[in-house]
Amino acid sequence: MWRRLRIAILLLILLFVALNTYFDRVYSTDWDTPLRIVAYPIAADDSEVTDRYIRQQSATAFQHIETFFEQEAKEYGLQMERPIRLTLTPPLSQSPPPLEPRAGRLSVLLWSLRMRYWAWRVDAPAGPAPDIKLFILYHDPAISPSVPHSVGLQKGLFGVVHVFADSGMRGSNETVIAHELLHTLGATDKYDLRTNQPAHPDGFAEPDIDPLYPQSFAELMGGRIPTSATESTTPESLQQVIVGAKTASEIGWKKR
Ligand SMILES: [Zn+2]
Repeated sequence: MWRRLRIAILLLILLFVALNTYFDRVYSTDWDTPLRIVAYPIAADDSEVTDRYIRQQSATAFQHIETFFEQEAKEYGLQMERPIRLTLTPPLSQSPPPLEPRAGRLSVLLWSLRMRYWAWRVDAPAGPAPDIKLFILYHDPAISPSVPHSVGLQKGLFGVVHVFADSGMRGSNETVIAHELLHTLGATDKYDLRTNQPAHPDGFAEPDIDPLYPQSFAELMGGRIPTSATESTTPESLQQVIVGAKTASEIGWKKR
């Protein structure tokens, strides 16, 4: 009896998630109106450096990301002023539920349900409800030389992004934020998860050039700039990044 009830409840939850996912996706990538993204800065540690950094960020901190998406969208025939609009909120004092570094599929699923609920409860700024909530956790590089994996859930329209509280890393932070943002819109990773090497052809900015290496740009979901068949470098800013054709079609950008 209990077993059946538990299975029934689990099935209901899965159905709910599946339906939500379907409507979220269809709704968010029709590009009839700009997408509204709310970005919540969160200090990931107690460092004074982090605290100062997130408090000093200006409202225009993510302008580069907006401009990047506007330019890339034009390449795919979407003539819209700032198709993706980011609003920065004041720093948030609570942190999202943590995800274990080596969580299995079920733990990730359960975490994503908790996360959905948590994200839903966080207040949005006044005005129309945001399409996507991005929680940006800032780490002091002196304390955390590397940060946990960022997650942009394709199901749920929120992302948890880990970046560095360091103005010298602003460019690479923007690349990470843009990458996770596209995950929330249904874009998939285009690199080898074991080696971080971009996958050819979809993870390459210029998959057809000859010679193929070294490439000069990164494809946003490929993540890195391939310099040889086995090596790649991290883009320093979005100026070294493009949105490739496969990624564009995944997020609903098509030649019109
Ligand atoms: Zn990714």
